[in-house]
Amino acid sequence: MASDYDVVVIGSGTGGYVAAIRAAQLGLRTACVERAPVVGGTCLNWGCIPTKALLEHAHSLKIAQNWKEWGLTLGDAAIGLDMNQVQTRKDKIVKQLTGGVEFLFKKNKIDWIKGSARLAGKGKVEITEGEKQTISVKKEIIVATGSQPRSVPGIEIDKKRIISSDQAIALKAVPKSIVILGSGAVGVEFASIFRRFGSDVTIIELLPRLVPVEDEAVSAELERSFRKQGIKVLTATKVTSAKAGANSVELDAQMSDGKSGKLTAEYLLVATGRGPVTSGLGAEEAGLKMERGYVLVDTEYRTNLPGVSAIGDVITFGKPGHPQLAHLSSAEGIALAERISGQEFRPINYDHVPACTYCDPEIGSVGLTEAEAKARGFDVRIGSFKFGILGRAKIAGETEGFVKIVADKKYDEILGVHMIGLRSTELVAEATLALRLECTVEELIRTIHAHPTMSEAVGEAAHATHGAAIHS
Ligand code: FAD
Repeated sequence: MASDYDVVVIGSGTGGYVAAIRAAQLGLRTACVERAPVVGGTCLNWGCIPTKALLEHAHSLKIAQNWKEWGLTLGDAAIGLDMNQVQTRKDKIVKQLTGGVEFLFKKNKIDWIKGSARLAGKGKVEITEGEKQTISVKKEIIVATGSQPRSVPGIEIDKKRIISSDQAIALKAVPKSIVILGSGAVGVEFASIFRRFGSDVTIIELLPRLVPVEDEAVSAELERSFRKQGIKVLTATKVTSAKAGANSVELDAQMSDGKSGKLTAEYLLVATGRGPVTSGLGAEEAGLKMERGYVLVDTEYRTNLPGVSAIGDVITFGKPGHPQLAHLSSAEGIALAERISGQEFRPINYDHVPACTYCDPEIGSVGLTEAEAKARGFDVRIGSFKFGILGRAKIAGETEGFVKIVADKKYDEILGVHMIGLRSTELVAEATLALRLECTVEELIRTIHAHPTMSEAVGEAAHATHGAAIHS
């Protein structure tokens, strides 16, 4: 293994491994240092992929539970869930994907250095655990060390009764009851999984509504659906303490009416966000500038140290709101590798980053919410269309939700598209392209949407924005 490289990437998550591949494609001699026993980081091993695998099991269970309506015959067997098989299938998918990253490293002649990396002075990376060595880096060190679960003051994740997503993806038995703290993407996805699997689920959110970063109409629709499914929703509620016992967790909370309340459950899942990982990196000794623990970067991902850049979950631009998303970390990795190789830097428009939440019903959104557009001074025009009207939604038996378009009245430009309902996480791709191309509502109206598809709701929402949906 060579000990000097053009580029050394620290961390093999969706930010790091993609940056490494792009750098290698552009002719740079590249290594990626990863201290976990597997490549792929959070997304492949403990995040996007395992949770979506569990959600797919939940979806198939939903169909099976409605077997009479679907005309399925299941003999005398009661419909149940074999968690061992669920975990086996999920682990197999994860292994295939992490194996895929290893294959791509080999294909692109990227060395995977197994160990923990530390910044060791200009153009130097020291491997402090694993394959111990010091590597010389000619062009750039890329810090892509990602994030990890973080709790709130007073609540300690003991990984037994008080758990994070890392433990929740691997539970060998369905919890009888679970309280989920936090209603961001991770919290609501696990609420959907465990409720469908049969748990008694309570979700607690400090803010007044679920999925607080989404458009208010989406939050309201999700809350309505969750309540219908039997998920207990406690918004504007603050958990003040959590005590783990041998078989349960006891919680004290300040409820929305200001009174105190108590809750007990088999597990408490803390889904209150993720904090940056910089342990072992030697950031302080190297003089790396940080903010609230995140690595501070400029708009081209440069840190304050010459020859050191950073991307992904670990970075901040110095203001709150750098989304922690797999596809965003990859896009940053590509833009950065291209800059390092001498190509033109193509900046990312952070208003055009799609966000998908795979709860039931699922959410896809891109661009400004109605409230954000108004706050930025736009004269806003809104149009929405309910999925339930569509033939395709009726065929799938999934009639909840809608598509909502936020547009600027003056130029007819689409500013944001927000959807909740079946296939929203796929449909958002069209909306993302529309924003990227600065599309008008008129252009979306003239774009023909195939029938019967869920995408017809996007076209109809565009019609509705101009005051005349065809089918409502
Ligand atoms: P990470 O994936 O965290 O990778 C960092 C890597 O760096 C790790 O492998 C770590 O071991 C390694 N590392 C750290 N320090 C060192 C060091 N000093 N030396 C060597 N190696 C080091 N995002 C989506 O877009 N869609 C989803 O559906 C989605 N679902 C999620 C579900 C869950 C439950 C969770 C927790 C997250 C989810 N995310 C999702 C977020 C997504 O996983 C992250 O945004 C993404 O993984 C960030 O990638 P990254 O490369 O910045 O960091």
